[in-house]
Amino acid sequence: MSAQILDGKGTAEQIREEIKNDVASFVEEVGVQPTLAVVLVGDDPASQVYVRNKENACAKVGVRSLMYRLPKETKSYELCDLIAKLNADASVHGILVQLPLPQGIDEKRILDLIDPKKDVDAFHPENVGLLSQGRPRFLPCTPYGIQRLLARYNIETKGKRVVVIGRSDIVGKPMGLLFLQKGPGGDATVTVCHSRTANLPEVVREADIVVAAIGKAEFVTADMIKPGAIVVDVGMNRVQREVVDENGEKKTVGKLVGDVDFESVKEVASWITPVPGGVGPLTVTMLLLNTLNAARLQTGAAR
Ligand code: NAP
Repeated sequence: MSAQILDGKGTAEQIREEIKNDVASFVEEVGVQPTLAVVLVGDDPASQVYVRNKENACAKVGVRSLMYRLPKETKSYELCDLIAKLNADASVHGILVQLPLPQGIDEKRILDLIDPKKDVDAFHPENVGLLSQGRPRFLPCTPYGIQRLLARYNIETKGKRVVVIGRSDIVGKPMGLLFLQKGPGGDATVTVCHSRTANLPEVVREADIVVAAIGKAEFVTADMIKPGAIVVDVGMNRVQREVVDENGEKKTVGKLVGDVDFESVKEVASWITPVPGGVGPLTVTMLLLNTLNAARLQTGAAR
């Protein structure tokens, strides 16, 4: 048996089309363009790529993006000043600080300064608290994207055993909370695993739905998956692989792989996300949706 593909890229394109139409209606009705301020500190190459992707994605759906590129020597107080300025600017609806920040800057302190109503990443303690109480303002982009992807494929979560591997504040923990919510996309029985989990393969084998957010290339193998389970791979790991080129010569190339060993797991699972083309495009899409919703919230426009 070979699993069917949960097409994150195609789903993201469909949702972006809907967002584009909703942004156009919002601009026409309210006369305000949803605006996202993106703050990038330092010259981390991966962060530069992520930020460029976000900028392009904004442009395609009619969200205005304002880029703030700061040198890696930026002092904490300078970053605090910029956040305060963006908080006070009524034309800015969403603020995103690209992580990781350079060493010496306290990430939590900076993220806590963002106005919770502009916190489109949903990292602020107020938004985390609202989510954990089941009355979310914004949903964290990656878990939200996964929830929407499963919904697009009519995958029922109610009553299902879900195992999330990874307990980060960005993915694992909020993913667990989303599956725990009452109502559509939730109502699951959730286990969140981490590096101290005993008998991890045994725990994962009980799952109807597995979400892997570990950051370890091809960690989840076929023997950990219950036949017919649904597997969502959040991981994005750059690895070096030896390939044979068209002249029969061996060479080493860089490749992006997930936390799931796709080739073996697809023979056991019923549905699986690929890497790339799975969860990644949905994360940016949910950022666009959160920015539109932030603009609605701040202008008092009804959803
Ligand atoms: P993270 O903050 O490094 O957290 C990794 C989690 O995995 C931790 O909770 C850790 O446990 C757990 N873990 C590590 N080794 C383990 C093991 N051997 N067994 C069980 N659990 C283990 O990572 P993250 O930010 O959540 O990201 C995870 C992956 O998703 C990365 O590859 C990242 O690049 C990717 N990602 C992708 C997207 C996307 O849009 N596609 C978005 C965000 C992240 P402890 O807590 O015990 O250390």
